[in-house]
Amino acid sequence: READAWETRFETAQTRDGHRVEVAANLGNTAHAEDAVERGAEGVGLLRTEFLFMAHASAPDLSTQIDEYRQAIDALDGRPLVARTLDVGGDKPLPYWPVPQEDNPFLGLRGIRLALTQPEVLETQFRALLMAGKDSPLRIMLPMVKDIAEFRAAKAIYDRLLSEISPSQRATDVQLGVMIEVPSSALLAPSLAAEVDFFSVGTNDLTQYTLAIDRGHPELSAQADGLHPAVLRLIQMTVDAAHAQGKWVGVCGELASDAMAVPVLVGLGVDELSVSARQIPLVKARLREFDLADAKASAQLALAQATSDDVRDALEAR
Ligand code: PEP
Ligand code: MG
Repeated sequence: READAWETRFETAQTRDGHRVEVAANLGNTAHAEDAVERGAEGVGLLRTEFLFMAHASAPDLSTQIDEYRQAIDALDGRPLVARTLDVGGDKPLPYWPVPQEDNPFLGLRGIRLALTQPEVLETQFRALLMAGKDSPLRIMLPMVKDIAEFRAAKAIYDRLLSEISPSQRATDVQLGVMIEVPSSALLAPSLAAEVDFFSVGTNDLTQYTLAIDRGHPELSAQADGLHPAVLRLIQMTVDAAHAQGKWVGVCGELASDAMAVPVLVGLGVDELSVSARQIPLVKARLREFDLADAKASAQLALAQATSDDVRDALEAR
């Protein structure tokens, strides 16, 4: 099976009956973009830009960032890049950006909350992405957004840059979206969908915050299963709200490469699956195993269950 998947990795990602679902790569380093393309990636669905900030003793300057982002954009050769702005704090400390001692770092200064405390860092990152993304499809994504106020605060900076940088010097095929990884943002997806360009569901954090289980907990993390009906309902709300406004939805957490979850996510209406590069041929092959109608039935079956074990048992029996 793995050999067959590898042989067909460059075929368009779609279900057996031809329903398109983009399959993109999660990258932790721009140097890996070329490898992702060789594995059949149709784009990068999540560039975790933390690596770039962690590799330096202070926040990298504009030209350093432009060079880095260009490396991925060049390798992608016209395929879209979804770059996430710096997502540190919580479980990902950054030595030169100290956060006061917190009792609950996962509920503290992290993601967009932290970024907005030093807006000049976010501004430089936006500027670098916009300039590097000239002539290619660029999607910029904000992490850990909990409601529209955080999105608007970041968008104000982004809009100012769009007006300051001449269109000939920056990306013009550009979208600004948010990650859905805090339950409040899924619950409030209709208000966000009216203003964002897209959503990408981060099922790792969304599961952690929905089930109140630390994603890295030594004993409990196995129970942090994204195929939990509570998480699936939040994804359903997100997709329905986005599609009602003509916006697209990706999933970039681990759930996107779970063979059992793929038809469920497609059945919920997810438009893009972003997975580790290694998984791309397998996820594309998995899509070709079912029809959209099967996927919709799997999604309904999963939503009707009471626990993640019930979801897995019901899908297995089907
Ligand atoms: C997620 O939370 O699902 C996600 C993709 O982001 P990260 O794993 O980098 O927190
Ligand atoms: Mg996350």
